[in-house]
Amino acid sequence: MKAFFDERQWHHDPKHFMANGTILPNPEQPKRIEVLKAAAESAGCRFEAPADAGTGPIAALHTAEYIAFLKTIFPRWQRIDGAGAEVIPNIHPANRSDSYPKSAVGQAGYHQADTACPIAAGTFEAAYWSAQTAVSGVDYLLSGGRAAYALSRPPGHHAFTDLAGGFCFFNNSGIAAERLRSAGKRPAILDIDVHHGNGTQGIFYRRNDVLTVSIHADPVRFYPFFWGHAQERGDGNGLGFNLNLPLERKTGDEDYLNTLETAFERIAAFGADALVIALGLDAHIDDPFQGLAVTTPGFARIGAAIADLGLPTLFVQEGGYLSPALGDNLTHVLQGFGTE
Ligand code: ZN
Repeated sequence: MKAFFDERQWHHDPKHFMANGTILPNPEQPKRIEVLKAAAESAGCRFEAPADAGTGPIAALHTAEYIAFLKTIFPRWQRIDGAGAEVIPNIHPANRSDSYPKSAVGQAGYHQADTACPIAAGTFEAAYWSAQTAVSGVDYLLSGGRAAYALSRPPGHHAFTDLAGGFCFFNNSGIAAERLRSAGKRPAILDIDVHHGNGTQGIFYRRNDVLTVSIHADPVRFYPFFWGHAQERGDGNGLGFNLNLPLERKTGDEDYLNTLETAFERIAAFGADALVIALGLDAHIDDPFQGLAVTTPGFARIGAAIADLGLPTLFVQEGGYLSPALGDNLTHVLQGFGTE
């Protein structure tokens, strides 16, 4: 299988995040790259560097204000007396329609939803190339390829139009789907990360030309809390074009695969002719986030079931954190799908 990755994606190296009031090491470590790349290669992937398609595909979804923020905030932050080593917000507006601040601290609060998306010197560059990796994957499908794997890291599915969050900056899966749509395709995004793809949902919530489906641990007691509930079905023209399939904590392979069938029925009814898989591997039983209990052989069955849809498919890497099983889970998904 064709695969994409750019070495500049190493340059984002976040140090901290906060969970339950405790400052912890950030789990979205660059070391994930090494593990995921080796795992994809052992499933038969051949990596190449993405082309530079410019800011256009990113600006198709994200606001100019937000892109400028990500590009400039770190040097501005460093000029603050006594500033910490990473841009981390400490105040947030109550609503997106509240006043847009001029100050670096205010803008951090406006554009960063939580403490899990710290920004430092290499963050913009890494996020930019993570998006280009997904764009090159799409372009390969548009040239007639059956499937590709984009090692997009930092991940993207928690990023909204103008808001970072949950380790994510640019919404790589959404950027991929929008590029498919603008090429005349009718794409569906199927998000199998253990966390709800809230940014992706938010971006397409009022649209009926991209279907968004997410299978995830029930957000009633799990990140991202405010989104991912079954009653969120879209709005306006988008009503009925967002499907959330929350699962009880510790759900295992059989129930997961049954739920996948429900997702497939919706994707078929939509008439999708291309598929973007927001490929989180953190639904695994040993993932540090401990949301669901999919096994490593279960991931092979998920990959095989996706292949049976017979659609041009782009796998975009989302979550999945360091555990002894991380690499095997990716190998199993890709081998289950089948690599030419
Ligand atoms: Zn996740």
